[in-house]
This record gives sequence, C-alpha cells and structure tokens, in this order.
Amino acid sequence: MKKILILGGTTEARQLAGQLAARASVVLSLAGRTESPVAQGVPVRTGGFGGADGLAAYLREMRIDLLIDATHPYAAQISANAAQAAHTTGTPILALRRPGWQPVEGDRWTQVDTVGDAAQALGSAPRRVFLALGRQEVTAFEAAPQHHYLIRSVDAVEPKLAVPDASYLLARGPFREAEERALLEKHRIDAVVSKNSGGEATYGKIAAARALGIEVVMVGRPALPDVASAETVEALAAIVNQFGVDHFL
Ligand code: NAP
Repeated sequence: MKKILILGGTTEARQLAGQLAARASVVLSLAGRTESPVAQGVPVRTGGFGGADGLAAYLREMRIDLLIDATHPYAAQISANAAQAAHTTGTPILALRRPGWQPVEGDRWTQVDTVGDAAQALGSAPRRVFLALGRQEVTAFEAAPQHHYLIRSVDAVEPKLAVPDASYLLARGPFREAEERALLEKHRIDAVVSKNSGGEATYGKIAAARALGIEVVMVGRPALPDVASAETVEALAAIVNQFGVDHFL
C-alpha cells in the first residue's frame, strides 16, 4: 500500500483521512496545540517535525509517497515547510485549500491584514467585542484594553488577557447561526473579530453578525505556497482515487 502523510488540524483533514484510508496507508499529523483533539480515525503522529528539514527527513525515513497539506489556511509556516520539504525530497504534494468567505449584501466587514491591525481597527471608544480567534492570537488585543472582550476558544486562554474587562467561553464548533445570534445578543456584542477561515463550520457568526447589523473585523489570509490543490475534501479525494497515488510519483 502507498503511504500518504496528511498534515492536519482541521475537520477537512480528518474527513480526508477517513476517505483515503481504504486505498492507502494514511498517517495524520497534528501540531499538538489542542489538549484533547477529537478522534481522527486513522493513525496519528503529534508535534512539530523541526522545520522543513525535519519534515523532509520524516518523508524520507517513512518513505512517504504523497504529502497532503490539509492544514488551516492561517497555518502558513507548516504550509511553506510542506512545499519546501516536498520539493527537496521529490515527494508529490497536494493541498486542500478551502476558499475564503466573500462579503455579501448586508455584511459590514472591515478587512485588515493582521490581528494587530484588527485591534487598532476597533477604534479608541470602548466597544463590546467578540473574539473568535485562537488562543495564541488574542494577546494582540492587550494593545486595546479599553474594550470589553468575549473570548471563545477550544482550550482555556492561559494566562488570561491583561485587560480589565474580558470574559471567556470554552467551546468547539461547528456553531450554527441561531446559536451565534443568541450569543451576540446576550453579550450585547457590537464588533466581531474573525479570521476568513471559509467553510461552513464557523460561518454562523458571520451570518449572525450580518442579521444583527454588527461590524465584522476580518483578518485577511496569509500568502500560501503555490502547489497543486483542490477546494474540497471530495475533490481532493477524487484526484487521489482517480489517478491513484502512483500518478503522483
Ligand atoms: P503554523 O504557524 O503554520 O506552524 C507552526 C509550527 O507548528 C510548524 O512550523 C510546525 O513545527 C508545527 N505544525 C503546524 N502544523 C503541524 C501539523 N499539522 N503537524 C505537525 N507539526 C505542525 O501553524 P499554527 O497556526 O500554529 O497551526 C497549528 C495547527 O493547528 C495546524 O495543523 C493547523 O491546521 C491547526 N489550526 C490552525 C488554525 C489557525 O488559525 N492557525 C486554526 C485551526 C487549526 P515544525 O516546524 O517543528 O515542524
């Protein structure tokens, strides 16, 4: 059986692993950021490889036939490492690149490049802000301590944010629009800060903000390496299944 390494940490990576497991020997790689990740259904390895060179060494040592980058669109470092390691080892690579959301009629988006810019874009007057960001990213908002923050994350934010007024919620998506709307209303939120993750699982807050006329400060995507890609799990699985792993060798 051919060996496929999937770089994951996303729902799509888990689904893809499930779809490919019947045809190939699949290993899913997680960074190890989440304390209790959901069951992935295939063999998992956890933790960094040690940069592009470490990943290249792993690809050689494990005799990986196909590398699939199915990481989150904001995980730019691992995607760059994957492209480089594939190149240096001559390992075929495919990427799952979920398209970003586009603003539609009624959306009030302020588009910024970084979380630091998002903290600035909230302005100087105190606001009630929902941060739907990873726990590593929320520290940028210590630069704007005048706002009230509602922070939702999968794992607890430790240490807590050095701002006078923040509350914390632990939850794992998917989040539906009706639940998100109820949350925004309950906490009287007037600005949502979000990454442009794309996909259905976290779109509820964007739709809810539109329905309530709330501003969304949207942090734009980082640049990712140019590798052959598909937009959905089904399309990527179809490429692999149609041609077989041999096609990429
Ligand atoms: P990153 O900044 O691109 O990666 C930082 C380092 O973490 C990489 O250089 C690598 O370490 C290690 N790493 C990342 N993903 C890995 C994987 N799948 N397997 C093994 N090592 C990995 O990534 P990040 O933003 O910290 O995200 C970490 C993981 O969380 C990713 O797998 C991503 O799919 C998932 N995730 C990220 C976000 C987000 O918004 N960034 C959201 C949801 C899920 P070495 O250099 O030592 O190999």
